[in-house]
Amino acid sequence: MQYTYPQGKHMALTFSYDDGQCFDRQLVEIFNRYGMKGTFHLNSGRLGSAGHHGAFVNREELRELYAGHEVACHGVEHEDPLLLTEQELLAEYYEDRKTLEELTGGLVQGLSYAYGRYNEMTKRVARTVGLKYSRTVSSTHNFPVPGDFMEWHPTCHHGDPRLMQLGQDLLNSPPHRTMPLMYVWGHSYEFDRDGTWGVIEEFCKLMAGCEDVWYATNLEICNYVNALRSLEYSADGKKVYNPSALTVWMKDGERLIEAAPGEITILK
Ligand SMILES: [Zn+2]
Repeated sequence: MQYTYPQGKHMALTFSYDDGQCFDRQLVEIFNRYGMKGTFHLNSGRLGSAGHHGAFVNREELRELYAGHEVACHGVEHEDPLLLTEQELLAEYYEDRKTLEELTGGLVQGLSYAYGRYNEMTKRVARTVGLKYSRTVSSTHNFPVPGDFMEWHPTCHHGDPRLMQLGQDLLNSPPHRTMPLMYVWGHSYEFDRDGTWGVIEEFCKLMAGCEDVWYATNLEICNYVNALRSLEYSADGKKVYNPSALTVWMKDGERLIEAAPGEITILK
């Protein structure tokens, strides 16, 4: 029995972009053109202001701009989490989540650590305010599903010289490899500053339209993996109960098995 992504898809690709500068508009346009899904980690206290890397997106445009993608937290003021007291950090995350939820009208449940800085305290505080995952800045140059979603290491930054090779490696993943996940992160202002819009355009072109790839936001992947991890098996392993609210999929050889939410599925 091998777990798969939704509808039996073998691989997944996700993106994560920090800070919410106005260059997100162009990046979202590229993602939309190629059918990519991304997560945008915003600092609610900076929205609409001028920044030294370029102006930040406006509060009023969040819903429309990021429609079909995920809006997530990055701290109200982009404070270094390790230089705050636990109480200050709690406000930095909690107030960020509240404001972003007001502005998007949805639930905001994701985080990336400002400056990639974290420790056990930041993980605990993030969980306390209802955040379900948080991204670091440590590249794995590999495709693991994270063991701990509060320490979600990306595959690589978009400026990594190995980006295109890693993309090709994902597409060539052997069938026995379970649920390979490529996770690319960066800041949209870097494309403008470095003149590298062509890099993300080429990468999206390479990865687009593959039947076997699940293009998903960070939260969609987190929720799906958590649903898989919540499965309960009978003692003989022939039945599985899916207590989550999501349908999950697995393969027995070539046979695709769908485990519906709230139901017991016969496996063998
Ligand atoms: Zn940042």
